[in-house]
Amino acid sequence: MTPRRALPAAAALLLLAGCTSFAETLAAERGTAGQGTADQGTAAPSSPAPGGRASCPAERAGPDPDRPVVDLEFRLSDDLRTVTGTETVVFTPDLVTDELVFRLVPNGPGAAGLGNRITVDDTRGDDVDRAGYEDAGAEAPGGLFVLQLDGELEPGESTEVELDFTVSLGEGGFERLGAVEGVSWWASGFPLLAWEPGVGWARDPFVEILGETATSPVADTTVSVSAPEELTVLMTGDQDEPSAADDGRRTWTAREPVARDVSVAAGRFRTATLTTDGGVEITTGVLPDAGVGPGELADQAAEEVTALAERFGAFPYDTLTVPLLPDAGGGIEYPSSILLAGVSRVVLEHEVAHMWFYGMVGDSQFRDPWLDEALATYAESSVGERGSPAQPDRALAVPGDVGAAMDEFEDTGTYLDVVYGKGGAALLAAREAAGAEAFDAALRCYAQANAWTIATPDDLAAALADLPAALDVLVRAGALDADDLPE
Ligand SMILES: [Zn+2]
Repeated sequence: MTPRRALPAAAALLLLAGCTSFAETLAAERGTAGQGTADQGTAAPSSPAPGGRASCPAERAGPDPDRPVVDLEFRLSDDLRTVTGTETVVFTPDLVTDELVFRLVPNGPGAAGLGNRITVDDTRGDDVDRAGYEDAGAEAPGGLFVLQLDGELEPGESTEVELDFTVSLGEGGFERLGAVEGVSWWASGFPLLAWEPGVGWARDPFVEILGETATSPVADTTVSVSAPEELTVLMTGDQDEPSAADDGRRTWTAREPVARDVSVAAGRFRTATLTTDGGVEITTGVLPDAGVGPGELADQAAEEVTALAERFGAFPYDTLTVPLLPDAGGGIEYPSSILLAGVSRVVLEHEVAHMWFYGMVGDSQFRDPWLDEALATYAESSVGERGSPAQPDRALAVPGDVGAAMDEFEDTGTYLDVVYGKGGAALLAAREAAGAEAFDAALRCYAQANAWTIATPDDLAAALADLPAALDVLVRAGALDADDLPE
C-alpha cells in the first residue's frame, strides 16, 4: 500500500496507497492437488553472470506444483453489507505439520476499527480434530484461526478442508473492506492460509500502525461471487462473463493460478477494458460520480504496466482490475487487482509495481516489509521526475533500520519514513553506486529467480552479489545485515 503523506494526522488512515500488478501466462495448466501436476515447478536452468557469482535464471521460475488449491465462494447480501462464504483448501506442506493456520485480516486493528469483522462459522475435513481462534493482537473473535489435525501431515501429503465464514463490512474509508452507497469491497475477506514454504506457519501479531502484516503462499485460486444483478464485480483473476440474472442475482467467476490473496469489489461501476501491447487485459471501474472516466483510468494503468514491465520483466499476470473506490486515500495492492482510493498516477504506479514485488516475488510483510514497500517506492521514484525524492540525502539520514520488522516501528509516520522513504532512497543510491545498467539487470534477475516464492533479504543480497557498492549502501541503511552478505 502507499499511504499518502503531507496530510493531517486524522486523515492518515484514509491514505493508504497500494502497490501491485503483473501478467504472465503460465506454461501449463496444473491438475488438482493429489492427482499430480503438469506445470513446471522448478526454476529454469541458471547461468552465472559473466565473471560473477550471482546467477540469473534464463526464464522466470514457475510456481510450486504442490502449491495450495483454494476455492472461494462468496455471496454478497442484498443490503450489500454482509458477505457469507465457503472456502475449500487443498494443502500440501513441504514441512511436517499437524495444523492449518489462517489469518483473519478483517479482525486486525485498522480494519476492525471501521466495523469490519470475520467469523468462522463451521469447518469440515476428514483430518480435522478441532478448531479455534487465536488472538494475535487482533479484535474479537481473533486474528488467527487454527485447524488442529488428528495427526501429522508429511511433506508432500495433502489434506482438504472447508471453512464457512461470515464477513461484516464496515463503514468504508481507506481500508481493504467496506460498504458505502453503491459499492462493497472485501480484500483479504476470508481466512487467509498463512503458510511460508520452508519456514512454517506465520503467526505474526497484528500491529496498530498502518501496513500489512500477512504472509501467504501463492495458490491456484478460483473465486465465485453471487451479487445483486445491478452490480459489476472486479476482482483478482481472469474473469468470465457473469451468469445470466436469476432471481435478481448474477454470479461472477475468476481464476488466478498464482494468487497469494484475493480482492473483490462489487459496485455500480462503469467499466472499460483494454489489452496492452504485452497482452495484459486491464479492466477499470468507476462509480457514477467519479472525477475520471474508466477509459482514461485504463489508459493510465496500461502505461504503468508497460513501463514497469520494461524495467522488471513481463507483467506477472494475464489480467489487472482496478476498481476506483469513492474514498480518497491511496491504493492497496492485491494479486492482479488494485483497490484505488483516489486518482493518483504515483499511487497507481506504486501499486502496479507491487504486482512484481509482493504479488510475484512475495515476502513476509511482517518480518521484511521493506522487500515490497521499499521496492515499490523505488519503482515509483526512479521513473523520471515523477515522485523522485526531493531530498534523498535527508531520506537516507533518517534514523532507523530499513530492514526492521513491523513490530519495531513506534508509529505509522516512522514506518513510512524508514521503510518507504529511506528504503526507496537507499535502493536509488544503491543503483547509483553500482551503475544503473548492472543494478537494473540484477533486480530483474532477483524477480525472475524468486518469482512466486516468499523471498528474503538474503535472496536480494544474492542477486546483488557482484555489486558490492550496492550491498554497502543497503547495509549502511540497515536494509541488509553485514553478517548475511554473500561470501
Ligand atoms: Zn505499497
